[in-house]
Parts: sequence; structure tokens; C-alpha cells
Amino acid sequence: MKRYLLLAALFFSATASQAQDSLFIRKIYDEALVNGQAYDNLRYLCKNIGQRLSGSAGAEKAVTWSKKLMDGYGFDKVYLQEVMVPHWVRGAKEQAYIIDGNKKIAVPIAALGSSAATPANGITANIIEVKSIKELETLGESVIKGKIVFFNGAFDQRFIETGAGYGAAGVQRFAGPSAAAKYGAVGAIVRSITPALDDYPHTGGTVYVDGVTKIPAAAISTLAANKLSNMLRLRKLPLIKFYFKQNCQTLPDVRSYNVIGEIKGSENPNKFITVGGHLDSWDLAEGAHDDGTGVMQSVEVLRILKTTGYKPKNSIRAVFFMNEENGHKGGIKYAEQAAADKEEHIAAIETDEGGFTPRGFSFEGASPAFIKQVNAKFKNLLEPYEADRLVEGGGGTDIGPLKETVPAIKLIGFRPDSQRYFDIHHTANDVFENVNKRELHLGAAAIASMVYLIDQHGLN
Ligand SMILES: [Zn+2]
Repeated sequence: MKRYLLLAALFFSATASQAQDSLFIRKIYDEALVNGQAYDNLRYLCKNIGQRLSGSAGAEKAVTWSKKLMDGYGFDKVYLQEVMVPHWVRGAKEQAYIIDGNKKIAVPIAALGSSAATPANGITANIIEVKSIKELETLGESVIKGKIVFFNGAFDQRFIETGAGYGAAGVQRFAGPSAAAKYGAVGAIVRSITPALDDYPHTGGTVYVDGVTKIPAAAISTLAANKLSNMLRLRKLPLIKFYFKQNCQTLPDVRSYNVIGEIKGSENPNKFITVGGHLDSWDLAEGAHDDGTGVMQSVEVLRILKTTGYKPKNSIRAVFFMNEENGHKGGIKYAEQAAADKEEHIAAIETDEGGFTPRGFSFEGASPAFIKQVNAKFKNLLEPYEADRLVEGGGGTDIGPLKETVPAIKLIGFRPDSQRYFDIHHTANDVFENVNKRELHLGAAAIASMVYLIDQHGLN
């Protein structure tokens, strides 16, 4: 009989705790939807500061403004964490033509981040299309040498989560140019990694392998890629040439900063839950969805928790990471410092998939048993807000290094709806106007709710 009483007591305390959680999450959403500030903050970041590529004046301005923003919210601690970052500049706008006999057809390209410049008068060469690095390798040096390689692997439309399509097609951007250089290519043109068909080239970092010639590399819009591919199919090789000119440059590294705000834990001040995004952006636009929305949601999480009078058990941090796009030095620095300061970290949540309607969270490297357990604990609390997909999956680039330096940390990715993100990702179209206020604020509330639940109940 006693055993049943104990079970009943446990049941009622669990139910009471669920009721309390459910009320508090409602409070978080009310605050976000009625008084949310992420959207106005994002407008300032996009319109008054704009592009924030690492090492640029925009990045420096963004750091100063972000610290002031956090200071204004009166968090327990606000500070800058110094980090040296690469300083790559695009220079004057790129030019490119398909040359068909004496016809020149202009096509939109954008140099890939970290890319080398072409010679001052550009490069003109025969161009050869491949669909993958594997195909490049089968052609080998006898075919590739002296040519521009055109990587035209298309974004696979069949993926439901577009992030998976991005990862799959992305290989040719990250690794293609260096692979082509190994066979003597003089330049690389990469199809933009997007499910959309339009005239926006999508930039993004490429990685040069040490000891391999750094050939100039650029992204081409998907419409232009289709046109070039059709022309190559219809004509014999020597008739079609390609010309491009780009003026980018890698300058010496620059001192920059992660911007960090903190609410101190009432029970475990040296245990942390981090929520972050990246402050830097590509230079073609305003870095609205990538990742202005993420940083503004992160600070909004702290603001909501503070405004609602929540006293966290553990310390909660918002981190604006610097240099995610072309080096992730900010993420590496944060992880190193956490280890040096012997901090315990329960979890880190990254929001870097755009400010779209929240769907849920992914838990990096989580076992099926863990996913089952986290669903049993939290799913019904998030279900009314349609942010209850709790699945195994990636955490994020900025928080990734923490798993090397901090034992037992759980890395979590915030997962908004992914259907529109890669239409504008890394393009001139990643602007404030493409962000929806309610979607952005729902995301901040979803993340704040997850932070609250982890703070209350842990993840084990
Ligand atoms: Zn990003």
C-alpha cells in the first residue's frame, strides 16, 4: 500500500511540475509575442550596420553595438572575448562572360570566400563541366589542365530538410576548387548551392588544401549555370570559353570579438547553458537570416528570462560568435576559454538556420534512447507551440568545438522550417525584408522554452 502512495505522490509532483512548466512556457511566449524586441533589434543590425564580414568595419561596428545592446538590458555580466580573425575582402565587383565565338554573354558570379583573385585582366580559358569531384577525378590531368572547371552538381530537390541538400551539394564548393587545382585547372566556377532557380550567385567559403595552387573560384547563379551547361552540351569544347575577373584579397588577420551576455545561476553559477548565433555575415547583403536572426534571438532569450523574473539555477549565456562564415575562430576561441576556465557546460544551443517558423530542436550525436527520453520529458510541453520535433541531428558550427573541450556537453541545433532558407542564403537577397516578425519571435520563445526546461530538469 505504501508503495502505491509513493507512486501516487511521484505522479502528482510530476504533474504539478508539468503544470508549472506549462504555465511558465506560456509566459515566455506571451512576452515574446507581445513585447518581443528581436525584430526591431534585427532591423537596426541590418539597416544601420549591414554586412559584417570578419575583419570589416561593419563587423567592428556590430561588436560595439551588440555590447551596448546587452549592457542596456542589464544582464549580470556583459563582456567581449578577443579573437583574431581572417580578413578577406571581395574588392571590386566580379565580371564573367560565356564566350561563344565572338558573342559574349554576361553571367552573374560572386567570388567564393577565401578565394584568390584572377590576374588583373582576368582569366579566359576553355571550360569543362563536371557534376562532382568524383567525375573530375575520372577525367584527370590530361583533360583538366589549363581549363576552368565548372562544378555543376545540382541541389537535390528530394531532401525534405533542405540542410541535407546543402550539405550534399556543398562539397563541390568547399573542396572542388582545390581538387581541380590538383589536376592543373586555372579556375573554378561552382553552381550556387540552392534549390532556387534564379540569377543570384550564392557565395560561401571554399577551403584551399595546403601545397595546392590557390586558383580563383566563384559561384555562378543557377540560371546561368543551366545556360552554360546547355551551351556546352550543344557545342564542341573549343568553341565555348569562359572569362572571369575578380579582385579579392586576403589581408593580415584582425583582432575581433565574441560578444557575451550572462545571467548568473542561483544554484550553480559555474554551470552554463549557452545559446548563440554568429554576428559576422557575408558581404553581399545584410546577413538578415544568416545569422542576424540567430544573434537577435539569442539575446532575446536572455531578455525574456530576465523580464519574466526567472531566476535560473544555472548560468545562462547568449553568445554572438564572430567569424562563423570563413574560419569559425570565434567558436574555437569560446571552446578553448571554457576549458581554460574549467567551466561546466550542460548544453549549448545554436540558432543558425534562419529566423523561420520553429519546428523543434536537433540533438547532436544523440542515441535513440536519449531522443526517446527527451521526447517523454519535453514534447508535450512544446506541442502547443508547434516546436516539438525533437530529433537526432547537428548542433551548429559555432558550438561544435565545445565537444572537444568540455566533457558531457549536449549540443543542440534550433530547427526552424527549412524550405526558404537556402533560396536566399549567402546572397544579395538576405535582407531584413525577408524576415517575418512573428516567425522570428516564435523562434526566440521556442529557444527560451528549451533553455528553461534544460535549466529546470537537465538533460540526463
Ligand atoms: Zn550562418
